[in-house]
Amino acid sequence: MIVSPTWAGKRFAVLGLARSGATSVRALLAGGASVVAWDSDAGRRVQILPRGPGEGDHEHSANGGGGATAVVSPSLAPSVSLRSPPPPVPGEDLVLADPLDLDLAAFDALIVSPGVPLNRHPVAAKARAAGTPIIGDIELFAQARAALPPHKVVGVTGTNGKSTTVSLIHHILQTAGIPSRLGGNIGLPILEQEPLPAGGVYVLELSSYQIDLTQTLDCDVAVLLNITPDHLDRYDGFEAYAAAKARLFAMQSKGHAAIIGIGDAASAQIARSLSARGEDLTKIAPGVCMVQPLSPSLAGPHNLQNALAAINVCEALGVPHAAIDAGLLSFTGLPHRMERIATKHGVAFVNDSKATNPESTAPALAAFERIHWIVGGQAKSDDLDACAPSFGRVVRAYTIGASGATFADILGGKVPVEESGTLAAAVAAAAANARAGDTVLLSPACASFDQFRDFEDRGDQFRAYVEALV
Ligand code: ADP
Repeated sequence: MIVSPTWAGKRFAVLGLARSGATSVRALLAGGASVVAWDSDAGRRVQILPRGPGEGDHEHSANGGGGATAVVSPSLAPSVSLRSPPPPVPGEDLVLADPLDLDLAAFDALIVSPGVPLNRHPVAAKARAAGTPIIGDIELFAQARAALPPHKVVGVTGTNGKSTTVSLIHHILQTAGIPSRLGGNIGLPILEQEPLPAGGVYVLELSSYQIDLTQTLDCDVAVLLNITPDHLDRYDGFEAYAAAKARLFAMQSKGHAAIIGIGDAASAQIARSLSARGEDLTKIAPGVCMVQPLSPSLAGPHNLQNALAAINVCEALGVPHAAIDAGLLSFTGLPHRMERIATKHGVAFVNDSKATNPESTAPALAAFERIHWIVGGQAKSDDLDACAPSFGRVVRAYTIGASGATFADILGGKVPVEESGTLAAAVAAAAANARAGDTVLLSPACASFDQFRDFEDRGDQFRAYVEALV
């Protein structure tokens, strides 16, 4: 676990006790802070408490109504409400209480999970009024850095390609024998991981929400891959979303490296403003050729951008070229991203369930020649314009989910299309129509929640249907 000595004796409120929030609570307590924690889900509140009565070295309490202190035990039914407590009792290390009911001025910071919409949630206004900083676990990591052995931090943001790029950087570092940890928006929360020995590299995937909650992360190498409209429900327009990403560079000290994909206007604008300030900047232009051979799991123009970003990061870190080349070749890719799951009767089946908007589907379509395209779900936009340049590669489209009818209308007349409705029907039809050399591609350009638990569930079901084909 990564902790900071600077937390000792401080008071923090933590809202949201899913993975990163729960880890923050544990790290803060281990660092000697006192914590008031809350989640609207009573089950999560119970889970944050120590296991089993008597196992903790002191009682952990939530305050009941009327000023009485109620001991909370793990046997507490998840449905029991712990709302409306009076202020936490001084001396208690961990107290369950809703920050909305507290005087936030008494806290050094409010820690929220990136899932809390700061533009709408009342706790944000309350913290601002109290002058209490609102931060996340990445800021806690930034605060803990001073006490860690000498190390470097790479931060990668962008609308699409973050996970692929950080995983590739991590893989190249491991190939080079350089100790590294993956964290942020991917894998285990960074604070939960063991500190690296001297010379290690922390590779962080950073969503714009996480950057919003971070004030002092000075990345040795910061990367912006691209900015396309997404998550606009959380920002006052596209410009505010782009500005959130740009803050990753504003936090860097002079001389630290910035790497920016300039394939879209918003990213190019950020690159221009950095070069005007004389920053150490590398630009990745679209359509640049690669000299190195790449692993098949880096197929497609989007992965070219990701690979170039990873190469530039590793060069900035001083990784030997031989290790970079070897890592690019041996990278096996990530599940649900351009994942080739089977070849049956010469037909390749590719799971790109992670593509939840048309911009992330577009490069997947550009990666293959004759495509049977399974598309649709809970749409984030009502057009497929970003995919249009590759419609010529689509042999047939199979629409599924809530946007199935709309997408069938949009595609009708441009490509042969059938409204399959369900993923099972789409896989069966695509497999029946495809011939050797074709690719059946699940790249839905939509969120999954209308028919699936999440994009992983959608990809797993696709795999199961494909595996069941004879
Ligand atoms: P993120 O972590 O940013 O969501 P991933 O690496 O998981 O990104 O990729 C998500 C999807 O975005 C992939 O399925 C792919 O279709 C698309 N994608 C990946 N890299 C890029 C890129 N550089 N530009 C545009 N789209 C991309």
